[in-house]
Amino acid sequence: MHRDLALAKAEASRILDIVRKPEEAITQQERERIARDTTENFANHINKGFLQYRKSVTESGGFAVTEWMGQGSILRDVLGREFIDMLGGFGLYSYGIRHPRIVEAVKAQLDRSPQYSQEMLDPLRAQLGKVLAAMTPGDIQYGFFANSGTEAVEGALKLAKFHTGKAGFISTLKGFHGKTLGSLSVMGKAMFREPLLPLLGNVRFAPFGDADAVEAHLASAKAVGEGIAAVIAEPVQGEAGAVAPPDDYWPRLRELCTRYGALLIADEVQTGFGRTGAIFGVDHWDVAPDIMCFGKALGGGVVPLSGFMSTPEIWKVLEPNPFMHTTTTGGNPLACASALAGIEVMFEEDLPAQAKAKNDYLMPRLQGLAERHPGIFREIRGKGLLIGLEFMSGEVGYKVAAGLFSRRVLTAGTLTNAECIRIEPALNVPYDVLDEMLNRLEDTLRGIAA
Ligand SMILES: *Cc1c(COP(=O)(O)O)cnc(C)c1O
Repeated sequence: MHRDLALAKAEASRILDIVRKPEEAITQQERERIARDTTENFANHINKGFLQYRKSVTESGGFAVTEWMGQGSILRDVLGREFIDMLGGFGLYSYGIRHPRIVEAVKAQLDRSPQYSQEMLDPLRAQLGKVLAAMTPGDIQYGFFANSGTEAVEGALKLAKFHTGKAGFISTLKGFHGKTLGSLSVMGKAMFREPLLPLLGNVRFAPFGDADAVEAHLASAKAVGEGIAAVIAEPVQGEAGAVAPPDDYWPRLRELCTRYGALLIADEVQTGFGRTGAIFGVDHWDVAPDIMCFGKALGGGVVPLSGFMSTPEIWKVLEPNPFMHTTTTGGNPLACASALAGIEVMFEEDLPAQAKAKNDYLMPRLQGLAERHPGIFREIRGKGLLIGLEFMSGEVGYKVAAGLFSRRVLTAGTLTNAECIRIEPALNVPYDVLDEMLNRLEDTLRGIAA
């Protein structure tokens, strides 16, 4: 596109003029224009690929579904069509969309200071460190905050290398830890790594849930003199499709890491803050990792926030020069206000218990659906409200995801990745919304069998 400053200025104002209006003052014509412009802008300025892969574009006819607002577990597009949110932003919206208490705290902080000066001491970040220290298992006490989950993982990997002076890592097959270069090095999927090799050297992969395989790697690395800084895993694999490990897996990882002098990193970016029916995923097995990574729900679903935390003993290595790892906007006051309000909500609404109870509610009903419609599901699994529906094939999965979408239920599962659909709603999703989702799912399954 040729440089055209007048166009840039006019286009910036055009959308903001609408955003600044009260909702009822936005005309139908303006709404249709936004829907049309958004499709065109995605094609011309974001990535044409999305228009092929997204159900929102391929299945909606007329106007693509263009996100506009949301509240709780309901999303509304710019034309006013309502969707039930069963995707929860892949774990971002654990407290629901725009939880009033969280929005209120963020607005209050916005009127004081949205970012920090970089020089004075900022109180909210310090307080969040204290709050999380009191919530995390074991001796975890110090935290560093950033914006995205992958940055939390990057920091955790760096800390493990700093502290141990070793370079190797053991990760899990199908594990997901983010897509920046360091995190990709511990990603357990060829598709995302292969074009970028070489990544960090000396990373070994074990099947998720297989502690014997981790032990074999630790033993062989030791035998050939290659140091392992850390073992990293998700408590319950999220991206891989809500896969919970055997109950002895995390306790054994803890014991192995201690025995071999490697650190244990729990990537709780998706599982943290109630998602799996406990505050943290590792709480199911009473394991205290050496380093924990947080993201997604940590920011309360309003302002992005991530972080990694560790023990005083391990953190010492960062103390002589705290500038060895920094980021300008991480843990900014707006994000911390959002996170602290989210934590308040998590406690007040007892969201871990809600996640557990709703798993108990959904599982038998989903199994019932699978029995009434044989030949569609391969497995239904998960912990808390991190539930995976695995289908006989990617085609069947896509039909279900698309059928749900046309019935206005939002789930993950796109053309490229539909073998497993995740059900990952807000933890405070009302039961009648779950019932409605189940009805629409059954209706979808009837359509597929026919
Ligand atoms: C989403 C996710 C990440 C990456 O977070 P981003 O904010 O997308 O960078 C890392 N680890 C796990 C377990 C995740 O689910």
